Amino acid sequence: MSAIVTTSRLPIIESSIFARMSRIAVQFNAVNLSQGYPDFPPDERLIEALFNAVQSNYNQYSLSEGTEALRVAISKMFTVLYSMPVDPVVELTVTVGATQAIFATVSSLVHTGDEVIFFQPAFECYMPAIMLAGGIPTALQLHGPTFLPDWDEVEQAITERTRMIIINSPHNPTGACWLQADARRLGELADKYGFIVLSDEVYHNILFEQQEHVTVFSEPRLRERAVVVGSLSKIMHVTGWRIGYAIASAALTAEIRKVHQFQTYAAPTPLQYAIAEILNDSNSYLALSKLFARKRDLFLDGLQDSRFKWLPTRGGYFQLLDYSAISNEADSDFANRLITDFNIAAIPLSSFSIPYQETRLLRFCFAKKDETLLTATAILRTV
Ligand code: GLN
Repeated sequence: MSAIVTTSRLPIIESSIFARMSRIAVQFNAVNLSQGYPDFPPDERLIEALFNAVQSNYNQYSLSEGTEALRVAISKMFTVLYSMPVDPVVELTVTVGATQAIFATVSSLVHTGDEVIFFQPAFECYMPAIMLAGGIPTALQLHGPTFLPDWDEVEQAITERTRMIIINSPHNPTGACWLQADARRLGELADKYGFIVLSDEVYHNILFEQQEHVTVFSEPRLRERAVVVGSLSKIMHVTGWRIGYAIASAALTAEIRKVHQFQTYAAPTPLQYAIAEILNDSNSYLALSKLFARKRDLFLDGLQDSRFKWLPTRGGYFQLLDYSAISNEADSDFANRLITDFNIAAIPLSSFSIPYQETRLLRFCFAKKDETLLTATAILRTV
C-alpha cells in the first residue's frame, strides 16, 4: 500500500478474478472459458436498432430511471414469463449492468452496522457492496452437489441487526436453481424477522431439464420485501453494453432511485432504445434455454472421454468440473497450470469465497461458439 492510501476501504478484496483470469488468458493466447460472456455476435437486428437510435439522435441523457420504452418492455417480459404485473412507472429502474443494480440496492437500503447474509460461493460484487455501505457481511457456505441453502442454518445466522439477505438463482458459479420450497422458507423467515431480500436473477432465462425459474416475487410474502435484479446485456449477448435493472415495490424503488441518480444518473440512452426494440420480441429471451442447453451438452459430450467429472447444472451458463482424478493441486494452482501448460482458462471455485475455501473444482463458461467449445474439449481431453 502506498503512503497516500494508508487504509483500504476494501482491505480483504483483491482485483476482480474475472478481469484477472481474462487478462492472463489473453497473455497466453488461451481459449477463454473463464469470464462469463459470449464470444459469438448478437442478433443483427440489435446492432441495426442501435445504429438507428444513434442516427435518430437518441444521444442525450434518458430519464434517470431509464427510458419509458425499455421499462415497459421489461415489464412486458415479466408478464410473459411469470404473469406478474410490474409497474414500469414506479417499480422499475434501468441500471448500468446488474452489478450497479446490486450496488444501488445495497447502498440505498443497508445502513452502517446492518448485517447482510449471503451465500458462498458467491458472485464477487456482493461482499464489496455490503462493505462499502458500512454493512457487515455474514457469509454462509453452500455445499455440493446441490449448493442449495440450509434454512435452519440461515435462521440461526439471523440476528436483530439482519437487514438483508442476498440470494442468487440460477446460481453463479454452480448452476444450482432454487425450488419453490426455498422461496417459501425465505418468505416465512422474512415475515418473521422483517428483513429485505435482494435476489440476483441475472440468468433467469437460461434453465435446463424442465427446471422452472423461481423468481423471488412468486412468493407472495416477498413481493413487497424483495428487489429483483436482472441483466439485459446478458439476455442480448452484449455484456459490454452494461444494461441491467432493479425491480421492487414503489417504496423500495424510490430509495434505490435516489442512489442510482448519483451513482450514474442514467444508463446509456441509445443502448436502452436498441434493447427495448428487440426485447419486445419475446423470442429474444424465450429461445435462450434451448440455445444454452445445446451448448452445455456439446461441452459435456466433448468431455466424455476426459478425466474431468461434472456436477449437475440446472441453469445459467457455467459448468463446474471436478479435476480430483487428475491432480491434488489447489484449484487456483491447477487453473494457472491449465493456462500456462494447456492454453485454456477457467475460474477456480475457491475465488468465489472469502476466506479461502479449498476445492478441486473449476468453473467453465459454455456461452461460447460451438468451435470454441470443441477446441476447449479437445484440449481438456488431453489433460
Ligand atoms: N458475470 C460474469 C461472470 O461471472 C462476468 C461478470 C464480470 O466480469 N463482472 O463471469
